[in-house]
Amino acid sequence: MRATVMHGPRDVRIETVPDSQIKEPTDALLRVTRACVCGSDLWPYNLRTEGEDAQRMGHEAIGIVEDIGSEVQTLKKGDLVVMPFAFSDGTCVFCHEHLHTACLHGGFFGNGGMEGAQAEALRIPQADGTLFVLPVSPEDPLMPSLLTLSDVMGTGHHAAVVARVAPGKIAAVIGDGAVGLCGVIAAKRLGAEQIILLGRHPDRIALARDFGATDIVTGRGEDAIARVLDLTGGLGAHAVLECVGTDQAMNTAVGIARAGGAIGRVGVPHYETVPSAGPLFFKNVVVGGGPAPVRAYIEELLPDVLEGRIDPGRVFDRTVGLDGVPDGYRAMNDRESIKVMVKP
Ligand SMILES: [Zn+2]
Repeated sequence: MRATVMHGPRDVRIETVPDSQIKEPTDALLRVTRACVCGSDLWPYNLRTEGEDAQRMGHEAIGIVEDIGSEVQTLKKGDLVVMPFAFSDGTCVFCHEHLHTACLHGGFFGNGGMEGAQAEALRIPQADGTLFVLPVSPEDPLMPSLLTLSDVMGTGHHAAVVARVAPGKIAAVIGDGAVGLCGVIAAKRLGAEQIILLGRHPDRIALARDFGATDIVTGRGEDAIARVLDLTGGLGAHAVLECVGTDQAMNTAVGIARAGGAIGRVGVPHYETVPSAGPLFFKNVVVGGGPAPVRAYIEELLPDVLEGRIDPGRVFDRTVGLDGVPDGYRAMNDRESIKVMVKP
């Protein structure tokens, strides 16, 4: 079978690899019908060092269950399922607390030697706890939006939940990638009255407005902070969704957070210590977040997708076959594309 393998910086290849197969009785084998390239895939794409082991890529997918291990109970061959970016058993203390990304028997796809979803197929550990059966056919027109439930919509929702978005609140979203755009959807869905997007790309800004952003701030750093304060009566935003992961984005988040507010971080942090500790302290701002437990959020978000109340699939602006994946990485890295869908 064919799969996406990252070898080094800017070196993504489609290769023939051994067919995926069931190894544990709790595994399923997933035939991928849709996958995609994630903004977080661009971190290793740019920063990977020569000499690291090659890594199979991709952690977002919808597919058909092709085979199941002897202990799998809730799935059957032929089920159409969405695969969260992390696998989890669904039974441990953290899964019961709906923090599936801390599962005691969990892990992350396309990472640390695990198989990836930008492939014809992959092995799913802890299949019962991980996969979520979808009540539609494999070619349903809602497929792009359903695919976002594997990561970006759940992650944007997590940022909004951690940032304590609630009816009447002011939300600010830092980052105009797919997660930031889904953060706008999530903030609106949770009732934010004013939604400020900090971003700079015209196509993404247009989409953010469609999704419910009321104000756009295109500056950076101190300029952006001053502009957000202008837009919020000098007080800042109650809820800040940090969807980038750089120290500059975090500094901006602290600068625009209102006293007593909260920052939800979902951009993988590429800094060692949380910046602006002093202002955070004196403003009593809560900082939280991490890898989103998207498995826990599928049930909550799925009805809104199925009934058309949210349309996060609009973040996909390009579709490729497996052969187009390397150029898909390039296009997203060059900000030519917001998010690339893969049809293996
Ligand atoms: Zn667990």
